[in-house]
Amino acid sequence: MNGSKTIIRISVQNLIDFSPQSGDLGTGFLSVSRAVEGTKGHQTVRKAVISALSEDTSYSSEVPITFVKEGRHTILEVSGRIDGVIEGSSHTTIHEIKTTQMDPDFIEKDHNPHHWSQAKCYAYMYSFRYKLNRIGIRLTYYCLENRMEKSFIEEFDSINLEEFFLALAESFLDWQDALYEWQDLRNSSILDLPFPYPFYRKEQGKFMNGVSNCIKTASVLFAQAPTGTGKTIAALFPAVKALGEGLVSRIFYLTAKTTTRAIAEKALEDMRHKGLLLKSVEITAKEKICMNGSFNCDPALCKYAVNYYGKVKNAVRDAFRYDSLSRDLIENIAARHDVCPFELSLDLSLWCDVIICDYNYLFDPRVYLRRFFANQKGAYCFLVDEAHNLVDRSREMYSAELGKRTILELKRAAKAELPDLYFYIDEIYKHILSISKEFDTGNDKTVSPLIHVRKEPPMELGKLAARLAEYAESLLSKGLSVSFQEEFLDFYFN
Ligand code: SF4
Repeated sequence: MNGSKTIIRISVQNLIDFSPQSGDLGTGFLSVSRAVEGTKGHQTVRKAVISALSEDTSYSSEVPITFVKEGRHTILEVSGRIDGVIEGSSHTTIHEIKTTQMDPDFIEKDHNPHHWSQAKCYAYMYSFRYKLNRIGIRLTYYCLENRMEKSFIEEFDSINLEEFFLALAESFLDWQDALYEWQDLRNSSILDLPFPYPFYRKEQGKFMNGVSNCIKTASVLFAQAPTGTGKTIAALFPAVKALGEGLVSRIFYLTAKTTTRAIAEKALEDMRHKGLLLKSVEITAKEKICMNGSFNCDPALCKYAVNYYGKVKNAVRDAFRYDSLSRDLIENIAARHDVCPFELSLDLSLWCDVIICDYNYLFDPRVYLRRFFANQKGAYCFLVDEAHNLVDRSREMYSAELGKRTILELKRAAKAELPDLYFYIDEIYKHILSISKEFDTGNDKTVSPLIHVRKEPPMELGKLAARLAEYAESLLSKGLSVSFQEEFLDFYFN
């Protein structure tokens, strides 16, 4: 293999999702206890399978597997761990285990095509490595609630699996090669890029030097200058130069206002007019860009969420024809491909050089871009516009509010429809009443009866809220639909 080629290491999941990193949905909501339960569920299923095996059959758990394919400029390395491999004297079966909250009685074979895709990838990688002509797949669903399981078994020819797997791998590799070629073009355009305006002021020059040094030393620069003095270009120009030199891999332009986004877009556009080749994307809040009036992301209620991963590949390729992916353009492309515009903008952010978005996507623990910031550190450059807003914004992001009246109303609504939910809410309600007793200041007139400050976090309330959240998650994962749905969801997210 050519040693100078870039090696792209991805998981089977990433290959199927056509994404180099993990997404922002799903795993972020997975609690530790749920993960532990999932592992226990896998062990239970394995035990049951092993105990039913004949003497000449063996079972191996967590089997690592890797497949390598070379492209024009890149080498793709797909890896994963197979939940189980069942080896008989003349036959092999890949075991894929999925834990779920759903009653297996309601799960059909094609319940989730994604699961079959994953198992087929593993089956191909295994059959390729051990030169098998045929291989079986056993897909088991194990319900964490009622501890019941259901398995689907199917046989495959390696030739068919190869066709399936190579279509995914080649498409990913082609895409990576196209990106590589694009980055080459981008870097040459940055190398030759002049400052986009006839001159820059002395102070702008100082600002730009400050930004360059800050990037080189991976430090923080605080800059203050009046509006209209050209701060945006003075921040973006050196950051783009650093991108071309390989000092940063991506630039995040974080801002609180739509107007300042437009100024950043304009600065990029001015550089493009001077020859810059660069991809930028604007991320707009879900509630603003949602194309489905109901703002309910359940595939049963939103056609843009149905088979999203199946459709998004073409949408991403389509979007790659453009350099400036504004909100309007994203809405347009999303409508053309029937995909959610918000999810599409997040997916596009993985392939873009500059991401223009609200502070939330970096700082808010609930909505930050996990695909960039959860597990790995990148050579990212953050340009925070009007950073003084962060004080108030971070207060909002890291504060939670639970109102006694809201809880009381929800409790009443839940009583008839969901007695268990009523019980969990009632626990919280009673606890809040007991806390409010501490508000009773008696005869001490020096203390305000309206504000009560505690230095310690309310641990007990936290525990009760976590219990309720866990129960709510289990209801939601089963597709809960109640008359007080909106109120319940608001409360759950709080
Ligand atoms: S999936 Fe997207 S389009 Fe559908 S409801 Fe959710 S945000 Fe709106």
